[in-house]
Amino acid sequence: MLQVTNTLTRAKEPVRPHTPGRVAMYSCGPTVYRYAHVGNLRTFLLADLVRRALEVGGVEVRQVQNITDVCHMTNERFDRGEDRMLVSARLEDRSPAEIADYYTRAFLEDAAALNLQRAAAYPRASDYVPQMQELVARLLERGHAYEVDGNLYFAVESFPGYGRLSGNTLDRLRAGHRQDEPDPRKRHHADFALWKAAGPGRLVKWPSPWGDGYPGWHIECSAMSLATLGEHIDVHTGGEDNVFPHHEDEIAQSESVVGHQVVTTWVHGRHLLTGDRKMAKSAGNFTSLRELGERGRSPLAARLLFLQARYRTPLNFTWEALEGAERTLDRLRSRVAAWAGSAGAAGREPGAAGYEERFWAAVDDDLDTPRALAVLAELEGDETVAPAARLASAQAFDRFLGLDLAAQVGQRLPAGAEGLIAERERARAARDFAAADRLRDRLATLGVEVTDTRAGTTWRLRH
Ligand code: AMP
Ligand code: ZN
Repeated sequence: MLQVTNTLTRAKEPVRPHTPGRVAMYSCGPTVYRYAHVGNLRTFLLADLVRRALEVGGVEVRQVQNITDVCHMTNERFDRGEDRMLVSARLEDRSPAEIADYYTRAFLEDAAALNLQRAAAYPRASDYVPQMQELVARLLERGHAYEVDGNLYFAVESFPGYGRLSGNTLDRLRAGHRQDEPDPRKRHHADFALWKAAGPGRLVKWPSPWGDGYPGWHIECSAMSLATLGEHIDVHTGGEDNVFPHHEDEIAQSESVVGHQVVTTWVHGRHLLTGDRKMAKSAGNFTSLRELGERGRSPLAARLLFLQARYRTPLNFTWEALEGAERTLDRLRSRVAAWAGSAGAAGREPGAAGYEERFWAAVDDDLDTPRALAVLAELEGDETVAPAARLASAQAFDRFLGLDLAAQVGQRLPAGAEGLIAERERARAARDFAAADRLRDRLATLGVEVTDTRAGTTWRLRH
């Protein structure tokens, strides 16, 4: 049974669904005003791994991932009456809806390239504004919200559990209060906006009982998660920066409306860093999957790179590490193809049981992916296990890893290539690197790319 670290209890716990055998999972999705960066994708991969681990264990998972399309408001000073979607729209001379559609498609392509399984639904925030308004109205009715000039705020003092997720309880927030411009409209400085009045010149706004305006970011996720998954959500995923205020505020809103705990298990991934700083759109230090492709790297090499670190450790992104992951991926695939080649037509073989047990134990132990990959590497080097059994186990592991490990199975080298590879190996062994390079070029003209690894030379066909 899968155990994960629950941010709410700070403990490793089994995922125990409210309805046995069926997990309802909500994953915070992308803001679609530009391409996702690989840091975002690391967080989305976490959701995919939780889901695959549960599904391999026979659990049915209904996953919903929202799309924050318009009206995303993270930081009021940045916001200054317009949101990031609008800034982008102006820069690119397209309407906010066009921008959102374009980057939603790009996000779905990136997700597919990374082998992230498709969610059951991708609700768009702009389609749920009536539900958001309904929640705000109920919060008002129940005394959890107040209005000032068309702006609605959540009153944090009305929710006793505030701070349980992040540790930012009200006494601590007061002590750590360091806002240079406290908003005079708020009763408590930690109160947050549920609905904001539209200022002049604002393009995207909706009519509401409190005048034209637009929703706060946190209410979007409360509304979409309650509307699509109901009042019992087993797993909610996001990146570590979502813990506060986004998820803390989501809990306050949702639970104040329904009157009980909604989300059981919160799973947060640590950040992807570049040069020891968080990879971020605003910091300009980000890399998209497209840039990876431009540099000749494959998306699944990034997937492997992320699997090489556990989700709850920060990971520094470097091109060298990515290149290393690409080589490992090539090696694994050619090994799997070799096992398939020598396994013959024996049909389905049982896998290597001892290895499988250890692999799944690592996965279930809070997604210990480095340990799981180490088990695979050990199996790769164990010549005492029959190729057919190694193949069967590698394919079973790939249901979780999602690395297309069997991508080269059945692929045939073009005529003459095998002889050139052997000749090149002899040249390398004789340290005649000039000859080896010439042979590499001849292979490239045949569409064959060779990579040298410690375990020998591997090849793949260029598409
Ligand atoms: P955004 O598109 O900015 O709303 O972010 C989408 C998701 O990516 C959120 O769940 C964030 O927590 C996550 N995220 C943002 N930056 C990083 C990063 N550097 N590493 C990992 N996850 C991130
Ligand atoms: Zn969210």
